[in-house]
Amino acid sequence: MNTHSSDSGDQGGMVPQAEISLPGNGGKKWRAGVLGATGLVGQRLVKLLAGHPWFELTEVAASERSSGRTYSEAVRWHLDGPVPDAARGLIVKGLDPNIACDFVFSALDSSVAGSAEEDFARSGYPVVSNSKNHRMDPDVPLLIPEVNASHLDAIPVQQKNRGYNGGFIVTNPNCSTAGLVLVLKPLADAFGLEKVFAVTLQAVSGAGYPGVASMDIHANVIPFINGEEEKMESEPQKLLGKWDSARFIDAGLLLSAHCNRVPVLEGHLECISVSLKKIASLEEVREALRNFQVDSELASLPSAIRHPVLVLDDVDRPQPRRDVHAGNGMAAVVGRVRECPLLDIKLTLLSHNLVRGAAGAALLNAELLAARGFLNRRVLASESQSTERVHP
Ligand code: NAP
Repeated sequence: MNTHSSDSGDQGGMVPQAEISLPGNGGKKWRAGVLGATGLVGQRLVKLLAGHPWFELTEVAASERSSGRTYSEAVRWHLDGPVPDAARGLIVKGLDPNIACDFVFSALDSSVAGSAEEDFARSGYPVVSNSKNHRMDPDVPLLIPEVNASHLDAIPVQQKNRGYNGGFIVTNPNCSTAGLVLVLKPLADAFGLEKVFAVTLQAVSGAGYPGVASMDIHANVIPFINGEEEKMESEPQKLLGKWDSARFIDAGLLLSAHCNRVPVLEGHLECISVSLKKIASLEEVREALRNFQVDSELASLPSAIRHPVLVLDDVDRPQPRRDVHAGNGMAAVVGRVRECPLLDIKLTLLSHNLVRGAAGAALLNAELLAARGFLNRRVLASESQSTERVHP
């Protein structure tokens, strides 16, 4: 992952690159395509893929507005630093599922993502999606590797149900759900969860570019984000639930969310109250959050951090400007753990909507898929239509 500077930017315990080895692909990197590469999430993916130890960017695709131009001509680049060299000269393609890569990331607008992702999966491409369209499908894993890696067992069922040969769809959750569920997971494991009440303060970059008009959001708060509360109330049920070899079983939580757009560039802050099944002291709750760490399989993934939840003690943290890059944007940062007069405990959490909530999450999902042997080495159409399976 690319590094950023911030107060808590280097925390979270990055896994040293020397410990990370390329899973079996004949010693070659997996070739990645990015659908929606010109958007905010797509640009993050393009940047994160530059210098990635397992993946190389070979294809970019977007709308008719962009296709046919080089990536550097088509993109309105929003990130610090230049467009990565590996991407600059790539010709932006349309959404025809015949591009030179082993798998695709989808960062497409939801108006086109649903059918485009199906087309790619049907054509044999593993699709690692950021979009909402297939998240709640009964045979599609909605994945946070630290939370529910076992849900990948649904892939063969999906392929059988849909007649996909080699292709499949895996999704990551909505950007505010991602941080919330990372924090809920250690609490669910240690104490059990009954109810969750969440109020979000979400950054403008969560709406893509150009997003909310500046005259609407400047010095203002908008107490409505279309569809967001529904996603926050449904996705955690699937993420914290179980795959029983045939279907996903919901976690059976009671969840209520209020979602607000605030004039912050990056980082979704969430104030949550939780009721637990088992009585726990505040110190036990803090310890459960602090002790949450990934297993050895996840620790071997290049984008993983050892401690995905970072607990701060300062009374006025986390703050988007100071803490959004914690763990290179992959950590959920927690502060203000205290008793709640309505439920049991309350706390504040922050996560990077474009990294942990989108591009970094998709990258981690793809790394887990590679490590578990779910990626195919695609033979290009010019060579043959067939694919061969490569095991790590
Ligand atoms: P965005 O900035 O609006 O980018 C959308 C991308 O989709 C662009 O590359 C655009 O290409 C492409 N696109 C739009 N219409 C198309 C069409 N008809 N055919 C082909 N490509 C088309 O949005 P974003 O924020 O990056 O979000 C991308 C996806 O990730 C969305 O589904 C969003 O809900 C999801 N997501 C976003 C966040 C976040 O924090 N922003 C977090 C989690 C998930 P052109 O440039 O050529 O128009």
